[in-house]
Amino acid sequence: MLRIAVVGSGPSGVYAAQTLVQQREVPGVRVDVLDRLPAPYGLVRYGVAPDHEKIKSLQGSLRTVLEDERIRFFGNVEVGGPELSTARLLELYHAVVYCVGAARDRPLGIPGEDLAGVHSATAFVAWYSGHPDAAAEAFGLPGVDSAIVIGAGNVAVDVTRILARGVPELAPTDMPQPALGALGASGVREVRMVARRGPSQGKFTTKELRELGTLPGVEALADPAELGLDPAYADPGAALPAVNRRNVEVLRGWATADPAAQTGGGVHRRIELRFFLRPVEVLGGEGGRVTGMRFERTAPDGRGGVTGTGVYEDLPAQLVLRSVGYQGVPLPGLPFDERTGTVPHAAGRVLRAGRASVGEYVAGWIKRGPTGVIGTNRPCAKETASSLLQDAGTLARRELPQDPLEALRAAGLRPVEWPGWLAIETAEAELGRSLGRRSVKIPDWAGLLAAADGSG
Ligand code: NAP
Repeated sequence: MLRIAVVGSGPSGVYAAQTLVQQREVPGVRVDVLDRLPAPYGLVRYGVAPDHEKIKSLQGSLRTVLEDERIRFFGNVEVGGPELSTARLLELYHAVVYCVGAARDRPLGIPGEDLAGVHSATAFVAWYSGHPDAAAEAFGLPGVDSAIVIGAGNVAVDVTRILARGVPELAPTDMPQPALGALGASGVREVRMVARRGPSQGKFTTKELRELGTLPGVEALADPAELGLDPAYADPGAALPAVNRRNVEVLRGWATADPAAQTGGGVHRRIELRFFLRPVEVLGGEGGRVTGMRFERTAPDGRGGVTGTGVYEDLPAQLVLRSVGYQGVPLPGLPFDERTGTVPHAAGRVLRAGRASVGEYVAGWIKRGPTGVIGTNRPCAKETASSLLQDAGTLARRELPQDPLEALRAAGLRPVEWPGWLAIETAEAELGRSLGRRSVKIPDWAGLLAAADGSG
């Protein structure tokens, strides 16, 4: 038997586990999927926006994999913490595949970033997704009239949309009750999503961008003059990759649309997309709270980048969310490249001092960086699994000391096994029923663990 630990139960971890047990070349593969959280599914549960039900429904196919009899789920197990080092984990298994994602946000590195009211989109997403590490976050939304979102990727689009949506659209989701209440009481009237480059260079995908223009009671705007600063926007014949061309078409539609027709008349909130503005400083007022942001107008440099123009513009905001990408976090005991925020590897084999480390592998964002959609993790995990299976002959020679589950318990860990997760699901369904909603997430550690052991 080849016993493998997969660390992380997001899409890359689950796809890696699936490939490992479903292949036919190496018989007798058994996989334990470990997660720091008591709940599985990684960013599908704690990152995909709650109103994106179709993507959320991917949890169904991840569940089918985790219910395979050759796979076990152990939640509430932190690797790299005091009870379980990476070295100890490798003693317990023939091989370990790290699929730990890229959990940290990237800072802007500008003055004023530490003012109250400035947050990372990562923290905001974690909060409205019910991530137990974010339960104590407070976003002070009632005092917010204008919000600024920095960045032009899909995460920026997600947080912009969630800020602009009303309670009737959010209540049917699994958003935790405190976040729903705070968003419902929010005074936000306008959300500006600000990009440092042009409309043809947005990192968002077209479906996500288009959706911003279809929200009930929300007007989506872009200034034709500002859009026209981008040569590839101004020239309809410009050769652009398909997704950028379609994005530009959506923005052309907004720039010429009649807002009243777009919203059916009743406009409650406004989303404005701004381009060619580079963040320079977060502006603050009394009490150390954000009051706005200063930007420098940029201009295309002809090579896909932008240069500063020395012209500045201030925009008001009582809430600033920076959404400029994720970053990998080093795991104690694993090599880490600070420059790329990833673990060095060759076809998924972890490299230590340039040589493949026996039995250690990576897949997903910690392997290739925080890019791509969920499906990108499938070929990525397959590559890693196939490297591991090529090494199987050597790896399987080692005798393992005991069932790893016993060793985890002996180390003082309290793994949440699959029935524990199912108990959390049941508790969340009951919580939803008690609130007159569908299933609602339990957003704190104590609540999740109590539900898992049946005492909640
Ligand atoms: P991203 O796609 O890499 O976008 C980051 C954005 O931040 C870019 O617009 C970038 O501009 C901007 N940026 C970076 N540094 C900046 C700075 N110092 N000042 C101003 N702007 C700056 O990252 P993401 O939005 O976090 O998304 C991560 C991945 O998750 C992506 O692959 C995304 O597609 C995926 N995702 C998908 C969905 C979905 O499919 N619905 C939802 C969420 C996330 P430049 O281009 O100029 O560098």
